[in-house]
Amino acid sequence: MLLYSTKNPALRVTLKEAVMKGLPDDNGLFMPARIPELPIDFIRDLRRYSFQEISLAIAESLFQGAIPRKDLEAIVLHSINFPAPVIRLDEHRYVLELFHGPSLAFKDFGARFMAQLMGYFNREEEQPLTILVATSGDTGGAVAAGFFRTPGIEVVILYPSQKVSPLQEKQLTTWGHNITALEIDGTFDDCQSMVKQAFLDEALTQHLRLSSANSINIARLIPQMFYYFEAFKQLPAAGGPIVFSVPSGNYGNLSAGLMAKKMGLPVQHFLAATNANDIVPKYLHTGIFSTRPSTPTLSNAMDVGNPSNFPRMLDLFPETNQRSTWNMITQTLSGEGFSDQETENAMREIFSNYHYAMDPHGAVGYLALERYQKEHPNTRGIVLETAHPSKFLPDVERILGFRVPIPERLASLEHIAKRSTFLKADFLELKSLLLDKTNKK
Ligand SMILES: *Cc1c(COP(=O)(O)O)cnc(C)c1O
Repeated sequence: MLLYSTKNPALRVTLKEAVMKGLPDDNGLFMPARIPELPIDFIRDLRRYSFQEISLAIAESLFQGAIPRKDLEAIVLHSINFPAPVIRLDEHRYVLELFHGPSLAFKDFGARFMAQLMGYFNREEEQPLTILVATSGDTGGAVAAGFFRTPGIEVVILYPSQKVSPLQEKQLTTWGHNITALEIDGTFDDCQSMVKQAFLDEALTQHLRLSSANSINIARLIPQMFYYFEAFKQLPAAGGPIVFSVPSGNYGNLSAGLMAKKMGLPVQHFLAATNANDIVPKYLHTGIFSTRPSTPTLSNAMDVGNPSNFPRMLDLFPETNQRSTWNMITQTLSGEGFSDQETENAMREIFSNYHYAMDPHGAVGYLALERYQKEHPNTRGIVLETAHPSKFLPDVERILGFRVPIPERLASLEHIAKRSTFLKADFLELKSLLLDKTNKK
């Protein structure tokens, strides 16, 4: 398998290079040079296969031998090890629950698969690879769970003291083994800038093999294709055309859906659902892409003013002599932004109509589907429920009027002691800690 940079189609790198580097030097994004179509009978017979078998078939077809089948199988079995069930609301509306992983959000799929791939590509190195991550809460938890006990990989997580929720902090600090949590006396921006400085510091990069668990690593996108097929499989064979509604922030999840369609998934349409940060819906309505600082909302994982995967989406619709990119992308994708008030109303409506507690992100997806189906009533819509409602507890409780229980595997963390190292928001402190850690090895 070869990949190119969205800024330079002539560049070609291997899967290993794309995964280990994360980003090309030209600041573009890696994309597969070929996205093959799966055999028609495989898609027709999808119901015969397990989620893991489907995942393996997709990865194998995309990787084209970059990883031997036996190793790829182990990677899939270790990363796609929790289900993605589809829940029926009514005959036209379904929910794809993506929150059954360790951190209760769909990001677990990407984080786990990336961890497995990095561990695999790193297996013959003598020196450990140190992954540095700055987190405002969520990403760090998914990354820690994904990399936990991965041989040859050390993870160092920086999070802002007092600025993550108590449960999030437990998800960062209760691992031990190869996961180190640094509690920084500062903001998320301080954490991020300390990580950036580390990558630029010569003494550090000479002594340590450093990498990031970058959210735009192609290894995170690939497993997100798997569950679109898994969702399709669970729908009744007969019925109207299928539409996916994807609550979106950086548009990784939606990019993966568009790639799944390229691989042959029979989807009629995608919906880019978001909150007040409606940069992509605006583009889809007008053809003008205009970034701006993000606005805080109820569905805060989608508060993004400059969506990082946007170039990937465009790249999937190269212009031709007859038609522009915009012309083509709008055939497959439409988008809508919704206010917090609309989101709250939708959460209450979904609960009273279907007895289903939806988190604010999923509710935004539901709103986009509801609007689309006014004009396309014969379609069957699948809303991606990107996180468990208990992740957004004070809000969900206030809106729905009851407490959604936190799943037991997470609730039990409350009783495990936090283990973190408190550090000033000072790069030199981080540097000496990292050098100390290597000298002790
Ligand atoms: C990250 C996240 C999103 C946005 O996903 P993108 O791939 O960045 O578009 C939506 N919902 C939840 C709960 C998230 O954590």
